[in-house]
This record gives sequence, C-alpha cells and structure tokens, in this order.
Amino acid sequence: MKKPVAGKNIVIIGSGIGGLTTGIILLLLNYNVTIVEKNPLPGGLMRSYRRKGFDCSVGVHYVGALGEDEPLGKIFRLLGISVHDLFERMGQDGVIDRYIFDDFIFDLPTGIDAYEKNLHTAFPGDAAAIDAVIKDLREISGRMLDPSFLINQGDPFQNIDYFDSVGNYLQKHNASTGLQYVMAVPAQLNGVPLADCPLIFHHMVLASYLFSSWRLKESGSKMADMFVRRFQDLGGKMILNDGAGEIILESGSVAGLQLKSGNTMPADIIVTAVHPKALLTLLKPEALKISYRQRLLNLQETEGVVVVQVSVDARFHPEIPHNIYDIHIEEKDISQNGIFYQLRRGNGNGANLLSIITKSSYNEWSKWENTYSGKRGKAYEEKKLSIARALLARAGKVFGNLEDSRILDVFTPLTLRDYVSSPEGSCYGVMRSASQLLKIASLNNVPIPGLYLAGQNAIAPGVLGSILGSFDAVKRIIGTERFVQEIKSMTLAGDKLRHV
Ligand SMILES: Cc1cc2nc3c(=O)[nH]c(=O)nc-3n(C[C@H](O)[C@H](O)[C@H](O)COP(=O)(O)OP(=O)(O)OC[C@H]3O[C@@H](n4cnc5c(N)ncnc54)[C@H](O)[C@@H]3O)c2cc1C
Repeated sequence: MKKPVAGKNIVIIGSGIGGLTTGIILLLLNYNVTIVEKNPLPGGLMRSYRRKGFDCSVGVHYVGALGEDEPLGKIFRLLGISVHDLFERMGQDGVIDRYIFDDFIFDLPTGIDAYEKNLHTAFPGDAAAIDAVIKDLREISGRMLDPSFLINQGDPFQNIDYFDSVGNYLQKHNASTGLQYVMAVPAQLNGVPLADCPLIFHHMVLASYLFSSWRLKESGSKMADMFVRRFQDLGGKMILNDGAGEIILESGSVAGLQLKSGNTMPADIIVTAVHPKALLTLLKPEALKISYRQRLLNLQETEGVVVVQVSVDARFHPEIPHNIYDIHIEEKDISQNGIFYQLRRGNGNGANLLSIITKSSYNEWSKWENTYSGKRGKAYEEKKLSIARALLARAGKVFGNLEDSRILDVFTPLTLRDYVSSPEGSCYGVMRSASQLLKIASLNNVPIPGLYLAGQNAIAPGVLGSILGSFDAVKRIIGTERFVQEIKSMTLAGDKLRHV
C-alpha cells in the first residue's frame, strides 16, 4: 500500500453510494470533502426515477445483511443512516427469492439452516456437493459477522481456495445441473457467470441475503437523498451538473481537479468512485504506465441489462413480498438466462409496479452506440418496445393475464452507459471473475500518489460490495493502523447510539 497522504482536502469523483459513503467516513475523520457529480442529481445507480407517478428503481431492488448485528446494519449505524427509515424486511411469507425453473421451483429462504434444508429436499442426489457448499457458506458468513469484518474487510478473502470459481468447485463435487443453476443466481448478482465466479464473492452475496433481505420502503431517491443529507450535515460540499474533466498532477502527485466547465479546484487527494476506465480519460496519457493502461483497457466488463417497468392492476396483481427469477435450463451450458421480477406497491391509484430485468449485451445495441439518451430515434424506441412486449408476454406465464398492464419505461445498456458513464453499459462495473481477479486487485494500487479508487469497482459490486470498496479506499488513504483505531471507535460510538 502507498504511504498515507498528509493533506486534508479531498475531492471525490462520483456521487453514487460508493462516493457518498467514502465522503461520509472521511468527514467523520475531519477531512474537507467535496463530491463532484456530472449529473444534475446525486446518487448514481442508487437514485430512482419517476414515470407516471411511479417510483422506478435503477440499482437498488433488494439488499442483504441490514439487520442490527449484520455487516450492512453495523455500517449504516456507523454512517448515521437509519435502516428502518429506508428499508423493510422481505420474506414475510418465508421466501426471499423464488426461482421458477421449467419443471421445478426452488425457494431461497431466510437463514442458512433453512437454505440447507431446501437444497437437500430439491436435490437429494447432491448431498456431498450441498454439504461442501454449506460448510464454506457457514465459515464465510461467520467471518462476516465477526466484529473484525469492518476493520479488515479482506478477512474472508484470506483462504486462497475461495478464489477458485464456484463452477469448478461444483463440478469437483459432481453437482447436478439443477443445483448448478440454483447456485448461478448469486453469481449473477455479481455480474459473473457461474463458471468464472470466485467462491468468495458468490458466498458473500448469498450469505448477506440469507442473513436478512430488505427492500426499499419508498424509493431509491429517498435513499440517495438521505445519504446526501448526512454528507452535507457533516459539512461535505457537493458540485452537481459538472463532471470531472482532468486530474491535475504536480511532480507526479495529485494537486487538483479541472471540471468540465473549466473551473479548477485544489486537492491533496482524489478518490474516483466511478468506473476505473475513467482514469484513462481523466489523466494525461503519460501519467499512467503503459502496462497499467493496458491492464485497464483489457478488463472485461460485466454485462448490461434491459429493464422494463410496468404498471399492473393492483386488484389482480397484489404486491409480492419476495422476488421471482424465471430461469430456463440449457443442458449444454449453465448460462445466465434468468429474468428477474419484482412486483411492488404502486402509487396508490389502484396500480402496482412490476419491474422486469434481463441481461442484454452491448453489441445488441451497437447500431445506436454513437447516439445519446432521448435522441436515439424511432427504430431504437421500436426495438425497446418489441423486447418489452416479449418480456411482458413471458411474464404473463408467471403472473397471469397482464393484458391491461401498461409499459411505463424501458432502459438499455446504452441508457446506463450515458447515465453513470459505465463503459458498455455494464451493470456491475468490471467483471470480478476468477480469471481476471489478480489483474483487478492490483488496479486499486493506482500508481499516482494521492489517487484512489472506491465504489463498486474497488472490491465488489452491489450495495454491500460498493460500501466495502469505500472502506478499502479510506484504509488506503489514512493507513491501516489509523484505520483500525478509527473504525473501532466509530463502531463503539454507533453501538452507543443504538442504546440511546
Ligand atoms: C439494473 C441494476 C440493478 C441492480 N440491483 C441491485 C440490487 O438489487 N441490490 C444491490 O445491492 N445492487 C444492485 N445493483 C448494483 C448497484 O446498484 C451498484 O453496484 C452500486 O450502486 C454502484 O455504486 P457506485 O457508487 O460504485 O457507482 P454509481 O452508482 O454508478 O455512481 C457513479 C457516479 O459517478 C458519476 N460519474 C461518472 N463519471 C463522472 C465524471 N467524469 N465526473 C463526475 N461524476 C461522474 C455518475 O454519474 C454516478 O453518479 C444493480 C445495478 C443495476 C445496474
């Protein structure tokens, strides 16, 4: 790790959950922090958008481990953000996710014991593979619950076997195709195919949802606003609607930032809570070694998605307290071909909101690659609509007649690319696959004094992964020794608040 920088002025590029969390922690440590955001509203993928009175989520559909003594619950307390103002528990019917396959249904319940039982019932021939999975899952979840997890998020990563892919692992244990498909869902939540998903990321995501699963009570915008309010209450400054243009270096170290508007601001430290490939546009070519540039350029992205938001009649389609995955098994290849559904409370006018998400490759939209959101033309709108109608027809098989439903919005990888500047519209940033894990891990050590990465590209994606990335960035900025002390005392202060 590089030496901690002495200066106090920190600029964070990007106001997603990664940038805001990093900002809040640094403010709690008495740094001066400014966040720079290219969009008019802060929050990145966390912020939802309105269509015909409905609040449509972009990047927060459900979150795990927000219980009091669970990793995200403790982190929210430490950040000073109320879990219960934002989230409500899922699974009141005993189910978090229902996986609907062609010829069987598997329910993801709360708790490892219940999960183990459901696996054995569904796959009686897979006892050895299931026992192996459960043993590692218990070990990893135990470490996530250990108080040292916040101090050393790397703890669960220390077992080298956990870097192997779940695909290899399951094959070694002769897992059936059905079991592999069930295991493919948490891999999908990391944006990695099962065959290449490191066991550690797979089991951390799975464990977090098994601890406890939550969805937003109201909206992603409320979540974004609460993070922003906390950041500003602590004295953080925010510049909106003006993207980062160029990182200014003096004698090879960070000295400031030039914004797209031409304004410049001094900085001792810059944290880029955006896609790491952004470094290639934010720095002069000679600032990064060719080998580092090359590594960045060659990184494989996670795949994009098409998302369809639909208004449905609440009388016939009441809210469902769990998510549904509709998965078709291909015997040849354990592919990520699932469709995700979430049916939630609507806007109070007799309608509920059905969100449908499925993967979509960037290439599928290459014809419009050089166009921008809102200006892509009729053929693009028609293609979006025809995909949405086909998805709606398929959803009818799960939810019954949807003829009276109304498509509110459809977004594609191009929408995400333009909204948060993720290359190829990738959903979860760079792919944290077993095969490119080492290349990615070395990226966090940006070879420029004063420059750091945070957010979903620093450790792992998702709300939990992005927040852990922020902790990692702070640790690099202030040094491990101080980080350990500060996090201990912040955790203690947070725990005291719990008892007030
Ligand atoms: C469709 C979808 C569904 C998802 N569902 C879930 C879910 O249910 N649960 C879950 O845990 N995770 C989910 N995720 C993943 C989760 O949303 C992300 O991992 C997380 O929000 C990433 O946060 P971030 O801060 O790293 O990045 P972002 O939220 O992308 O923030 C980056 C910010 O930087 C800004 N920016 C970019 N370039 C510049 C620049 N040059 N100057 C200034 N600002 C800039 C962007 O505008 C953006 O605001 C989902 C993601 C997607 C796409």
